[in-house]
Amino acid sequence: MELNQLTIHELQEKIKNGDVSAKQITESVFSRIDAVEERVHSYIRLMKEEAFAAAAKADENIKKGDVKPLTGIPIALKDIVCTKGVTTTCGSHILHNFVPPYNATVVEKLKDAGAVFIGKTNMDEFAMGSSTETSWFGSTRNPWDLERIPGGSSGGSATAVAADECIASIGSDTGGSIRQPAALCGVVGLKPTYGRVSRFGLIAFASSLDQIGPFTKDVEDCAIMMNVLAGYDAKESTSVPAEVPDYRQFAGLDIKGFRIGIPKEYFIEGIDPEVTAAMKKAISVIEQSGGQCVEISLPHTQYCVATYYIIAPAEASSNLARYDGVRYGFRASEVRDLLDMYKNTRMQGFGAEVKRRIMIGTYALSAGYYDAYYKKASQARALIKRDFEEVFKNCDVILTPATPTPAFKIGEKTDDPLQMYLSDIFTISANLAGIPGISVPCGFTTGGLPIGVQFLASHFEEGKLIQVASAYERNAKIEKRRPAL
Ligand code: GLN
Repeated sequence: MELNQLTIHELQEKIKNGDVSAKQITESVFSRIDAVEERVHSYIRLMKEEAFAAAAKADENIKKGDVKPLTGIPIALKDIVCTKGVTTTCGSHILHNFVPPYNATVVEKLKDAGAVFIGKTNMDEFAMGSSTETSWFGSTRNPWDLERIPGGSSGGSATAVAADECIASIGSDTGGSIRQPAALCGVVGLKPTYGRVSRFGLIAFASSLDQIGPFTKDVEDCAIMMNVLAGYDAKESTSVPAEVPDYRQFAGLDIKGFRIGIPKEYFIEGIDPEVTAAMKKAISVIEQSGGQCVEISLPHTQYCVATYYIIAPAEASSNLARYDGVRYGFRASEVRDLLDMYKNTRMQGFGAEVKRRIMIGTYALSAGYYDAYYKKASQARALIKRDFEEVFKNCDVILTPATPTPAFKIGEKTDDPLQMYLSDIFTISANLAGIPGISVPCGFTTGGLPIGVQFLASHFEEGKLIQVASAYERNAKIEKRRPAL
């Protein structure tokens, strides 16, 4: 195996034993990037110079015996987290030249833990999308089938891990943007509880839903990343001062006596039969592992997509008001006056999907319609949250498909926003309720496309997610395949 194919914990061992240097690991990642990046397009921007400088620093520290959890580990960052001095575009023309003057808290934390940053990954513009096709920088392709989408919006972060162009990466999840691409690319992706990970320096899409989380090659790596990312941040008012357990200790535990809820509303018509079959298999693996699967009901599930597509655009319309060409980013030239400058900047700077969201959101918040849309959606959201609270009185975790279908073809849904929105039908509820969720690889279709199973837990129960996901991973023994690129 090449170094770039290894997991964080495997590399940690090799570094500790003095078998490899950070420089060698970084070289192996960049030679892989040289070989496949042109076809996959995981990255908007590579940070080669910075990466080798960080690797050299890591090697000095290793020599001194100063080895931190991510010392010398190549990590990719979704281009939605601010990196000091490194252009951060959010996949948008309007920010194509934006150079942040500070680092996001997660970037600082990863850096303090010794990480080597490889680059900024491609994403749907402002994280609005499920396929990484709305990026101003072009589409990312699924490494398992280059004709297909990798999922979104954190598509580049998923493909960078799946194609071994980094060891782990960071994404953001507002309605599924970590778990959905993780499922479609065959990697592990976790959306933490709302408030678990600081969003300071995360470019805002929908502030009551956004969370930052990791993509990794296995569940143990996910726990290692969460140990670094989680925790209170005085700079972020929604971050919660709750104690952070050592997530890694959950990775080896069994799940004897665990109660796993199977929500009947998530096994509906329209799911790909191969996904349904994979879920049946996953349920039996969980049962063989000592878990007790019980049918449950989340009665307001049918309102999730509609509720999300009021709340998320409403918040986006407000968050995106700041892009006016005055303070940063793109500014239209050839304008008549100030108003014309605003209009042209936003018209030329935003893509079609972002404009659609701004229009929906502005409409939903406008005086005459607020009660009918935004207020109604907020009420529905409270019911959706209550469904989960009821279920978690009797269940440790919930098992669902991560996505209704495997990766679809590039271009297949770009003209049909509603079909695109339905790709997140199983992931959106966790964001509305603020609970954590993880997507874990659970097999392949006959055509060789990855399928993911999702586990959901109650607030701040990421430990349970790691526990059930790692027990599943150990016992399912899903064949280790690599995309043939
Ligand atoms: N696909 C969903 C949307 O388009 C979710 C995106 C996300 O989680 N950032 O809004």
